[in-house]
Amino acid sequence: MTDYFEVHDRDGAARLGELRLADPVTTPGLVDDVLADAGSEWTADRQIPEGDEASLTVLPHRALPGGTPEEVQAAFASDYPDVDYPSAAVVSPDTAADDGADAYVLSTAQSVAGHAEAFVDAIVRTRDAIPADSALYLPGVATPGNVATLAYAGVDLVDTDRAVVKGTRGKYLTADGEHFLEDLTELPCACPACQGPRADFDREDCVAHNEYTLRAALATVRERIRQGRLRDYLEGQARHEQWHTAVFRRLDRQYGYLEQRTPVIRRAEITAASDDTLRRVEIQRFAQRVTDRYRCRFDNPLVLVPCSARKPYSDSQSHGQFHDAVQFRAHTVSMTSPIGVVPQELELTYPAQHYDSVVTGDWSATELEFVSDVLGAYLRENEYPRMIAHVPAEYRPICERVEDDLGVEFEYTVVDHPTTTDSLANLASALAGEDKYRKRERQHNTLRAVADYQFGRGAGDALFEDIRVRARYPKLKAHDPGGEQLAALVPQYGVLSLTLAGARRWVDSAAPTKRVEIDDFVPHGSVLAPGVVDASEAIRVGDEVVVEGPNAFAVGRAEMHGREMAESTRGIAASVRHVAER
Ligand SMILES: [Zn+2]
Repeated sequence: MTDYFEVHDRDGAARLGELRLADPVTTPGLVDDVLADAGSEWTADRQIPEGDEASLTVLPHRALPGGTPEEVQAAFASDYPDVDYPSAAVVSPDTAADDGADAYVLSTAQSVAGHAEAFVDAIVRTRDAIPADSALYLPGVATPGNVATLAYAGVDLVDTDRAVVKGTRGKYLTADGEHFLEDLTELPCACPACQGPRADFDREDCVAHNEYTLRAALATVRERIRQGRLRDYLEGQARHEQWHTAVFRRLDRQYGYLEQRTPVIRRAEITAASDDTLRRVEIQRFAQRVTDRYRCRFDNPLVLVPCSARKPYSDSQSHGQFHDAVQFRAHTVSMTSPIGVVPQELELTYPAQHYDSVVTGDWSATELEFVSDVLGAYLRENEYPRMIAHVPAEYRPICERVEDDLGVEFEYTVVDHPTTTDSLANLASALAGEDKYRKRERQHNTLRAVADYQFGRGAGDALFEDIRVRARYPKLKAHDPGGEQLAALVPQYGVLSLTLAGARRWVDSAAPTKRVEIDDFVPHGSVLAPGVVDASEAIRVGDEVVVEGPNAFAVGRAEMHGREMAESTRGIAASVRHVAER
């Protein structure tokens, strides 16, 4: 049972939390502030393994009494009889378990910091073994340069120990590394400690500066988490130290760990700055769903086109020109880095209209491999009578690679550039004589494609076999033959939000349902974690969920992943859109 810690916001494995003290401490944050608040120190609920120096930093102001956990507790209680404080358990990756504590102190923190493989292994194993609504504390390792990496991996609490020790040794810390004080002609900082003349700046000032800088770095991290953009920041910031870059690359390989914690939709844009962006969960998940879940329902030829800087693509001038040439005679699929391929029905679906990439006209080898792999996998699942590649020269190597891999041939229609008069005329004449599909077919197929993407392969047919489509794209609404609304497309994220009737259909269909089982209450607005009896493991933040209990049937959106809902004792598990009493 977590009494003092609550997670408010999530950005992948990073969380924005709160230690609920008289003076609340926002995490990722400093244990020093927790101790200042408690006016004392934390107790350890567990016996400290012998010879485990790292764990001593739990109690920085006092030597840890030896003995059994009971003796430690008793010693603490006799010293501080009236202090009410959050509990912490000292664990290693091998001993980590749910001890009912608010925080877990990783005893091996100092030995794994600096070693990417050991670090990622320790964090993933520990985080998976302790409850989601508890704080993970890594003592004695934080620097202004590494806190973004620590938070990204799932660390909630750090301390100033290392920054202080570095300062006493004349190491001046910045967000991009560390410097020997003697080497600095100027101090690249405007904190209070750095205000005086350079000649007067001593090691005591250096300690104070390091602490200020660590606090500023943590504030940057927290702000990034609020914006949902910690990863964008890290891809640039982590480059200053090899092991930070190695950490997030190794974490990317722990796909299950990150995927479980990454929302399926969000407001924040993805900035594609390097090949590392291709390994992000959002990008991999989209590619996986487009190749595994999506299927093309049009009988028309395929037209591959380049993406546009403007999103959604159909709002761009170039795609307007392609559209005029295609005239509903082909199924348009955009090729892009870092997303891969985007079928026209999914152009709104996160993150297809939520990314920004540096367009240089050149593809890196990694981008080329990624996009051709996704296009190849897509074409293995979706057959077309003809395939036209209306792409500029730099896209040709991708198409040729897919032609080789699959033994297929594209018809190329671009001369010079895709939007030249000649190129557009080639595209139009290549499609001469092809049948046009109707607006109604396009709208139906869009809703079904989004359902496949969102709920699983075949869900579009299972849910929307007999629908009537109302309203105009992109604000499409699905109604049943009786006229009752089932779902609406949310243009901002390109996903469906269900009505109660839609949710009942979902539950009755063969498509896998994501369910939150609740106690005998009727939820209004939101479902809090303590009211959750059980939840589907597959639920991710942002997923549509059915909320069911003895007294209520509701539909809404997940605010936690499934395991977190089932485990947590605090926080909002799901927000409810519609509810019916039973
Ligand atoms: Zn400073």
